[in-house]
Amino acid sequence: MPDESGKFDRIALIGLGLIGSSIAWAAKRAGLAGHIVGAARSEQTRKISQRLGFVDSVAATPSEAVKNADLVILCAPVGTYGALAQEIQGSLKQGAIVTDVGSVKTAVVRDIGPFVPEGVHFIPAHPVAGTEFSGPESGFAELFDNRWCILTPPPGADRGAVDRLTRFWQRCGSNVDFMTPEHHDLVLAVVSHLPHLIAYNMVGTAADLEEVTQTEVIKYSASGFRDSTRIAASDPTMWRDIFLNNREAVLEMLGRFSENISALQRAIRWGDGDALFDAFSRTRAIRKQIIEAGQDTAEPDFGRAARKTPPGDKIS
Ligand code: NAP
Repeated sequence: MPDESGKFDRIALIGLGLIGSSIAWAAKRAGLAGHIVGAARSEQTRKISQRLGFVDSVAATPSEAVKNADLVILCAPVGTYGALAQEIQGSLKQGAIVTDVGSVKTAVVRDIGPFVPEGVHFIPAHPVAGTEFSGPESGFAELFDNRWCILTPPPGADRGAVDRLTRFWQRCGSNVDFMTPEHHDLVLAVVSHLPHLIAYNMVGTAADLEEVTQTEVIKYSASGFRDSTRIAASDPTMWRDIFLNNREAVLEMLGRFSENISALQRAIRWGDGDALFDAFSRTRAIRKQIIEAGQDTAEPDFGRAARKTPPGDKIS
């Protein structure tokens, strides 16, 4: 009988930051876990996680955490996955599902794949939901509600295991989609990785300008700049790892972006108002489609004044 409950007796989370803690809260909300055990790099994070109560127990090492777990979720930065997979391989239970939450997928398959033992199901995943906050205190159960989780099961993956993980993410609040790792990386390069690179650069450029005082940058930031600062406040380790591990797709999108920005630069230089107007009209329609798909609010100023809970509207 296929298990359609999305429930697991024992879930091991390796990494207890924004995503790990949010998965734990969401799984608890839906009653999906008999027991959640967590591992993190520092003792401080393990202690905070236990105090907050989103894990039932903590383990000193990832190997210890995965023993007897039916579902193992790697929730650490992407650059750690190869070493983590190597470390846990001898402790995984037969029949367990090993998955991850990494924001890139081709590199994750390359780094984890070789260490997955026979009889263990490896199904990479990426919940496309996040905020600019990190650490165990930043998580919340609603983070994945009505967001997408992309699974990239390898060819020949066990159908029952894929269905079980799909159900798990659905019951955590997500819509689930399937892609190849390569396609995932291309899509995410354009909707998430490139915007982050631009935001980091935009805020860095403003910070470099000596003639604009810091006070003025902050004082007049109630415009496009402010939203860029939110994105540019994202965790530097996580984003370093994303760019190092999705190099080809990001460089491809960056090339296209540079061509388009040159075209806009030319239109401004030559006073070509029609070209600017056409370019800006096209992009307005995309915003409308995002709102129609329920992926953002149509309220003015992104509903900031009305919002009481963390937004969870930043993806990576
Ligand atoms: P985070 O809040 O910074 O948390 C990272 C966690 O990983 C921390 O608990 C950290 O432990 C732990 N860790 C780091 N190195 C480790 C190691 N070698 N062994 C065991 N644990 C280790 O990061 P996050 O935002 O949750 O992101 C985690 C993953 O989710 C990344 O792969 C990222 O690509 C993906 N993701 C992020 C977002 C987002 O918007 N943030 C969205 C979707 C997917 P310490 O606290 O002890 O250092």
